[in-house]
Amino acid sequence: MSTLAEHYQNVCQRIRQACQNSGRASEEVTLLAVSKTKPASMVQECYQQGQRRFGENYLQDAVEKITALAGLADIEWHFIGPLQSNKTRAVAEHFQWMETLDRDKIAQRLNEQRPDHLAPLNVLIQVNISAEPQKAGLAPAAVAQLAAMVDSLPRLQLRGLMCIPEASEHESILVGQFQQMRLLFEDLQQQYPTIDTLSMGMSNDLELAIHHGATQVRIGTDIFGARNGQPGVA
Ligand SMILES: *Cc1c(COP(=O)(O)O)cnc(C)c1O
Repeated sequence: MSTLAEHYQNVCQRIRQACQNSGRASEEVTLLAVSKTKPASMVQECYQQGQRRFGENYLQDAVEKITALAGLADIEWHFIGPLQSNKTRAVAEHFQWMETLDRDKIAQRLNEQRPDHLAPLNVLIQVNISAEPQKAGLAPAAVAQLAAMVDSLPRLQLRGLMCIPEASEHESILVGQFQQMRLLFEDLQQQYPTIDTLSMGMSNDLELAIHHGATQVRIGTDIFGARNGQPGVA
């Protein structure tokens, strides 16, 4: 087995084990393979191992890969980076999911720009659960309003919530953030029973996130290795 295949299988095994330890069925948790800065050839290799969902942060880099791999009909692309409102069209046209929505204006533009021949764009609302001032995402109290807007837009499909918690050596801080996210998600589910995705957990904390209710973990480093620099940035 190649290194990538080995790393990928290890991550799949960790997810299965974490589900088992938490009394959850392994089908409840999906893996998003975060391929940002990695070449299309590595995405393809991961695809050959059975992976279908890939996460990308940098639009130009992503669109090049999406175009190069257009022959893989059932591959699924999730945008997980910060998005400026003048760049929404590329997400609307090339991705199946937008996981970092945090503004009305972006929602409206994605709705207008989503091509008619494609299914509605799946949307997660990003929550700034650690309340760090420099971080993207909405305050928990603002989620309901944006959710209502997304729900009213025909070319968007509200699927749930996403967060990037504050990195901390103190497990209790991380646990507190995961717990808050789960409560917020369950509240939102009362109102929108079809939402099904709580995206949290990365290479370092996937076990903890699964224990606290994540339905999607986003894993980059532990599958593809340490990242190359951000493309186009010296
Ligand atoms: C890069 C990135 C990840 C993957 O993080 P790793 O620690 O490499 O697993 C997950 N989510 C988002 C939003 C990212 O930008």
